[in-house]
Amino acid sequence: VIELVGLDGDDTLWRNEEWFAEVHQAFHGLLDPYVPAGLDPVGALNEVERRNLELFGYGVKGFTLSMIETAIEVSGGRVSAGEIQRLIELGRTLLARPVELLDGVVETVDALRDAGFRLVIVTKGDLVHQETKVAGSGLADKFDGVEIVSEKDPPTYGRVLSRYGVAAERFVMVGNSVRSDVLPVLAVGARAVHIPSAVTWVHEIADHDGSVPTLASIRELPDWLAGNSPTSR
Ligand SMILES: [Mg+2]
Repeated sequence: VIELVGLDGDDTLWRNEEWFAEVHQAFHGLLDPYVPAGLDPVGALNEVERRNLELFGYGVKGFTLSMIETAIEVSGGRVSAGEIQRLIELGRTLLARPVELLDGVVETVDALRDAGFRLVIVTKGDLVHQETKVAGSGLADKFDGVEIVSEKDPPTYGRVLSRYGVAAERFVMVGNSVRSDVLPVLAVGARAVHIPSAVTWVHEIADHDGSVPTLASIRELPDWLAGNSPTSR
């Protein structure tokens, strides 16, 4: 029996990565005049982000700083103050964008509640931005809790389990990222369901061995969980 269902936020409950793809395009266009032929500014940005993650953590603020750092680097210091201002505005558009829930989320969350599961959002990123997204989602009241974490690793999931007083085998995590929502969950002895998203951030890409249940849509989740629900026996 599953007691507690963890749901990832970005690209599981609401759209996220596709907004970054739009910003990547704008970033590419802005830096195009500065970069040597054959250098992809977005590839350079991914590298800068990777090296900054440990210091900045996840989220739009760190991403924006990484855009500025990359712009200065790939332009050899020639990028203008006006262009840096434009990069800051691009970051701001990401922070200000209204939450758009993915298809089927509200119905699914309601069905899981009706089936008697306890529900928790487990999401990582900037604290203020994630709080804003949770509030804007209109979903908060349907959940038993919201865990905004700085990293989704086995110790983090261990803390979530003890906070909710749930044994590992009675927890399932559902999300789009194998690296964040699947592998560290399996590592603590809990279960995971993978729902791949249309776009996946390059730093979240990982593989599982194929034994992890993979659903095409969150709409399939209640059926997958049927027979595991607290009220099914
Ligand atoms: Mg996600």
